[in-house]
Amino acid sequence: MAISKTQKPAKKLTVKKRKAPSVDNPGRVLKRSRYSKAETNEIFQRFHADNPEPKGELDYVNAYTLLVAVVLSAQATDVGVNRATKTLFQIADTPEKMIALGEDRVREEIRTIGLFKTKAKNVILLSEQLVRDHAGTVPDDREALEKLPGVGRKTANVVLNIYFGQPTIAVDTHLFRLGNRIGIAPGKTPLDVELAMEKAIPPEFSLHAHHWLILHGRYICKARKPECRNCVIYDLCRSPEREPFDAVPDIAVRTAQMVANGKTRLDG
Ligand code: SF4
Repeated sequence: MAISKTQKPAKKLTVKKRKAPSVDNPGRVLKRSRYSKAETNEIFQRFHADNPEPKGELDYVNAYTLLVAVVLSAQATDVGVNRATKTLFQIADTPEKMIALGEDRVREEIRTIGLFKTKAKNVILLSEQLVRDHAGTVPDDREALEKLPGVGRKTANVVLNIYFGQPTIAVDTHLFRLGNRIGIAPGKTPLDVELAMEKAIPPEFSLHAHHWLILHGRYICKARKPECRNCVIYDLCRSPEREPFDAVPDIAVRTAQMVANGKTRLDG
């Protein structure tokens, strides 16, 4: 049919293609990792070979003191938290003892840590809630943990991973940076990175992945300037921030040694 000059042609209908949501989180689209499954596997083989039993750096004596230490560690260093909790945990290593100690005394003990007033209040409130709702014990499920004052998803993930041995990934500043910098689990939010990490990390490494990545981010792939010359995954890294080979003639000495010794396999 001919179209007259005054008649506008019918608009072509365009249907926007939507990316498929992830299986883990319907509705949320995860960015793709820069690495194949085999490469991701090799990355974690290296971390494992370098440090087979990675440990967190917060001091604690039981599930309760771990929970308190993690709550106190928000925007504070582990070293600073350990210094502050040394005496505190000797006096109060249970919710009941912490309540008896009182908010003022807790505030005194942790005053060297940032946000100490809010944190002291939360420590008392969460202790009261543990006594009231959980008979003074720390629950081993995320939902219950996240209901405690001062406890968010990250804190819950740390406790579930370190104390209860669950393969959770707590995305702190280091994991968030690493996920995006090296592109192993890119994401705009910590939750995006967490879900992308869960998807990318081979199951056999998921229990320790959180620690390996924190330690790697804290001591090697640092925020300001990554120490690529000491990096065990230098040859695998696809970060645009990776130092060029020429700049680091002694590059990956450790990597080269590990590869030469055949220690990059779990059974190696
Ligand atoms: S090579 Fe450099 S940028 Fe890549 S992971 Fe290692 S330290 Fe980070």
